[in-house]
Amino acid sequence: MKIYKFGGASVKDAEGIRNLAKIVSGESDDLVIVVSAFGKTTNALEIVLKAWLVGDSTYEVLLDKVYENHQSVINELFTNRNSVKCKIDDSFAYLKEYLMSGKKGDYDFEYDQIVSYGEIWSTIIVAEHLSTCFHDTEWLDIRGNLLTDDRFRNANVLWNESTNRIKRAIDFDRTKIYITQGFIGGTVVGHTTTLGREGSDYTAAILGNILDVESVVVWKDVPGILNADPKWLPDAQKLDEISYKEAVEMTFSGAKVIHPKTIKPLHNKNIPLYVKSFLTPGEKGTVIKVDPVLKKTIPVFIKKEDQILISILPKDFSFVMGENLSRIFYSFMKHGIKVNLVEASAVSINVCVDDERPIVDALISDLKTEYSTIYNENTEMLSVRHYTPEALERITKNREILVEQRTRNTARFVVRKE
Ligand code: ASP
Ligand code: MG
Repeated sequence: MKIYKFGGASVKDAEGIRNLAKIVSGESDDLVIVVSAFGKTTNALEIVLKAWLVGDSTYEVLLDKVYENHQSVINELFTNRNSVKCKIDDSFAYLKEYLMSGKKGDYDFEYDQIVSYGEIWSTIIVAEHLSTCFHDTEWLDIRGNLLTDDRFRNANVLWNESTNRIKRAIDFDRTKIYITQGFIGGTVVGHTTTLGREGSDYTAAILGNILDVESVVVWKDVPGILNADPKWLPDAQKLDEISYKEAVEMTFSGAKVIHPKTIKPLHNKNIPLYVKSFLTPGEKGTVIKVDPVLKKTIPVFIKKEDQILISILPKDFSFVMGENLSRIFYSFMKHGIKVNLVEASAVSINVCVDDERPIVDALISDLKTEYSTIYNENTEMLSVRHYTPEALERITKNREILVEQRTRNTARFVVRKE
């Protein structure tokens, strides 16, 4: 039993969906296929939502465009279109009715009710196509099976209830291939929730954990996990194998290959995660698994852009210890701000975080009541795992370094943006 996950880029058009079916035809094992919304549909729905919330009626035009995109995929993919067209039309009609009803809840709640449709539509179309290629396929609505709390836009999985429901819903004696939605879930009372942007990888890992699968494969438009973003360092190399720990460190430092929450559910059950290219499915890709025997560790370069470095100093020149530390970090937690790097001296502390306004502004004004705060915008955090002197020289040359930090395995630099 395996989980295959296909992201938006792999299903951006009819050709992509045909390619998905071809990849699936090469698999003899039972499969759960997790699919994201087509291409940039999630972004488009976010814009629809924003327009609708402020009463801007152009949301209708924007939504019609999303509808047309799905129609054109259907027209290209199917000769017998009635059944799939009906399903998609019904689903769009349902959403339109919801939008017309005029009731508007808070942003996070409405986000999940509306933006989640992208995954519903993509999976309906993919499932219909696969049912024309293979006998045993079933579309599964994850909203009634992957249960979460009601922390909309960043929901937490209710593991016990989800395990019961998913094990009941998926029966490989009945069906060999299940197609379901990434990124979304549902509350006990039936509201739709989402797991955070790019959360479909996480869905694949949750299902992998619950179903005790042999492996999870994430199909992407890159050959695997590389030791740098090739747009930054064009000579980036593919890593054949990395450990769960390495993957967590990389995603924490800002590597965008997989959703950061993906590793834990797989690590807990020792399930390997393959990252492979849907363009060259025959190639090996990268496997993330328990402590692989590393042949040779090459430096891994990670850049986290749009950072802000905040320096916090107690106004009365007291030490940054005990009470001060807990007061300061409590503020970060209260505002939901993830700390990317900390550097402390006796009377000041530097903290590097994602430059997300307005929450960072709220944090700073909160801290200002007791502390002097200075901040540097337009900064980036550069991390090098398994660094060598040459590797550090390569990325820090001619850069203005604001903070530098080294452990045995990782060197980090907060630098001013070029
Ligand atoms: N469609 C969602 C997004 O674009 C989830 C995903 O792609 O993983 O964020
Ligand atoms: Mg997506």
